[in-house]
Amino acid sequence: MKIIDTHCDVLYKMQLAKRKRNKILDFNTSVALEANLQRLKKGGIYIQFFALFLPPNVPDDAKWEWALEQIDLFKTEIVQKHPEIKRLRRWSDAANLKEGEIGAVLSLEGAEAIGKDLDKLYKLHQEGVLSVGLTWNKANACADGAAEEIHGGLTDFGREVVRFNNEHRILTDVSHLSDTSFWDVLEEAAYVFASHSNARSICDHPRNLFDLQISALLEKGGHIHVTFYPPFINQTYEVEKTTIHHLIEHVKHICDLGGKEQIGFGSDFDGIDLYIEELCNASYYPNLINELYHHFSREEVENFCHRNFLRFMKRMEGEEHETGHRAHSIDRS
Ligand SMILES: [Zn+2]
Repeated sequence: MKIIDTHCDVLYKMQLAKRKRNKILDFNTSVALEANLQRLKKGGIYIQFFALFLPPNVPDDAKWEWALEQIDLFKTEIVQKHPEIKRLRRWSDAANLKEGEIGAVLSLEGAEAIGKDLDKLYKLHQEGVLSVGLTWNKANACADGAAEEIHGGLTDFGREVVRFNNEHRILTDVSHLSDTSFWDVLEEAAYVFASHSNARSICDHPRNLFDLQISALLEKGGHIHVTFYPPFINQTYEVEKTTIHHLIEHVKHICDLGGKEQIGFGSDFDGIDLYIEELCNASYYPNLINELYHHFSREEVENFCHRNFLRFMKRMEGEEHETGHRAHSIDRS
């Protein structure tokens, strides 16, 4: 089954290994990477998003450099060394993927790296960033994040970022936003999705979305990609006993809210430290698919795995063409 996975933190993990241990993790086979190439292949991954993520302890004046270093690792260690990985710089590039190739999309998880500089966002877009989450858990120049106690919303600069995203057919990702920021973004964003979030009515965690938010997101044409981190799936004290069944409860619930054609997956592999045992790295995706077949038709499962998001990409791509942003061919730089 072809899978589109909209979140992993491979780049950050590779950067830490390089900075702390002066070690380059081999993207092809390193067992330290839950989403290494062999595991992506075995799992049936068709398109994988690679997040640029900067932890809060990186000093402000070093954040841009850290982001560029992750982009460099993406190019040199992931794309250039592996012919089957094709970098997608435009949504339309996915149409050029051949059998056995995996599309790689750069995304931004928290806009700290750009500070208050839209030129930097423009540079990231030129590097192929196609999805922008404004915050990680804390507040920044754009907005308040999910763990910020003040629960503020979008700043004026944050609105400018969302407008930039709209203009350049970049997805605005609501996954780490505070509730107020979520509503502000929903009002402003033309292309909006949650790259890795679950249903809060099943698991009451600030990283998950309330039913009202999910319904409004769907209404706006947005998508929600469920994530595999047990504390966002299962609220009980036995979080380590979380199974695929618990995850499927979120899928069912989002479908009940009308999300059947707007749901997908965003594993968060390499960004998490707890796992569903039978879904502990990208190669285990078939376990999830097999279990989904017990609850949904073949066609529905295919929709969840890739068709829903492909349709979403087509919509953005269509509008890309309408506004003259012609598609570029796949680039190997
Ligand atoms: Zn995250």
